[in-house]
Amino acid sequence: MRILVAGGAGYIGSHTCVALLEAGHTVIVADNLCNSKAETLDKVKQITDKDVTFYKVDVTDEAAVDSIFATHQIDGVIHFAGLKAVGESVEKPLAYYYNNLVSTIVLSKACLKYGVRKFVFSSSATVYGENEVPFVETMDLLPTTNPYGETKAISERMLTDAAKSKSEFSVSLLRYFNPVGAHESGLIGEAPTGIPNNLMPYVTQVAKGKLGKLRVFGNDYPTIDGTGVRDYIHVMDLAEGHVVALDKLTSGVHIYNLGTGQGTSVLQLVQAFGEANGIEVPYEIVDRRPGDIAECYADASKAKRELGWTAERDLLDMCRDAWRFEKGYV
Ligand code: NAD
Ligand code: UDP
Repeated sequence: MRILVAGGAGYIGSHTCVALLEAGHTVIVADNLCNSKAETLDKVKQITDKDVTFYKVDVTDEAAVDSIFATHQIDGVIHFAGLKAVGESVEKPLAYYYNNLVSTIVLSKACLKYGVRKFVFSSSATVYGENEVPFVETMDLLPTTNPYGETKAISERMLTDAAKSKSEFSVSLLRYFNPVGAHESGLIGEAPTGIPNNLMPYVTQVAKGKLGKLRVFGNDYPTIDGTGVRDYIHVMDLAEGHVVALDKLTSGVHIYNLGTGQGTSVLQLVQAFGEANGIEVPYEIVDRRPGDIAECYADASKAKRELGWTAERDLLDMCRDAWRFEKGYV
């Protein structure tokens, strides 16, 4: 199939381009490079030895998106083109609502206009709010605590309504848990600008000596060791999940958790990083980070049952691959 990957130069998008190309699909990327670099796509070509068509466009620009759809006979869209920093979304809510909602509207409208049947959307476990773990797709969603989370919940509803209005338009809403790690080659990975917000890139930068020590946000949660528990998933497993979701997408709206189903605490991750890479990461316990929940992990059984997909790489693989990328990154 010919797949338009919006946000394909970014972290998850670039790994998904690799997985799509390796599965034999043709890839067209639309990205405005607001949080990525075009060179990443050269690395994608290097890894796969296949070509990618790239448009540097903002996917909120309806005319630019229309001209891509008019030029290529697109069979499916994967929409990664979102702004994703939770804290920044509180400071700049309108920028987040505009970018994340208008991009979804523009891309899905173009699908309806050009008869593109398959749409895969990057949602997030954040839409569950502070529900009971494990999170199951059938749960009622609770309010999220920030504009970023709201853009995911609203996009899910918009796409659901669009699919209801046109039976040929099928939507897969993929709720990611915590993507970490990098492609096994070490050529592409997560390269946040500035000081990372997320745990794994913070850990790799401490290991590299770029940052002093990890600050562990709270050790008084009701969890195995008091630190926050998350469901970390290798980014290549996540990428492969998109290929299967796209291949198997049939009419209607389908919601899948993409996680491992395993909860890991901050201290367990630090320990696994040491074990995988032989590097002890210094840390200190500090106050809880506002807005953090104690535990977040998936019931991953629906994706297994309906898509035949499960995450195959373990926490040691995630730590090893994240470090391999960071070591080589300048
Ligand atoms: P990323 O920032 O690395 O990738 C997003 C890409 O989209 C970037 O290349 C950026 O330049 C591009 N982009 C953003 N707005 C655009 C626009 N209007 N037009 C064109 N390009 C645009 O982020 P990521 O981690 O790869 O996340 C991809 C998607 O998955 C996002 O929607 C994010 O909200 C969602 N998600 C990410 C995580 C995570 O932990 N990384 C978890 C859950 C959901
Ligand atoms: N965390 C931490 N120190 C950091 C970054 C994160 O202790 O520098 C903790 C955070 O409190 C949470 C877990 O690590 O319990 C995962 O945080 P991340 O920001 O990676 O993901 P999210 O909170 O969005 O699930």
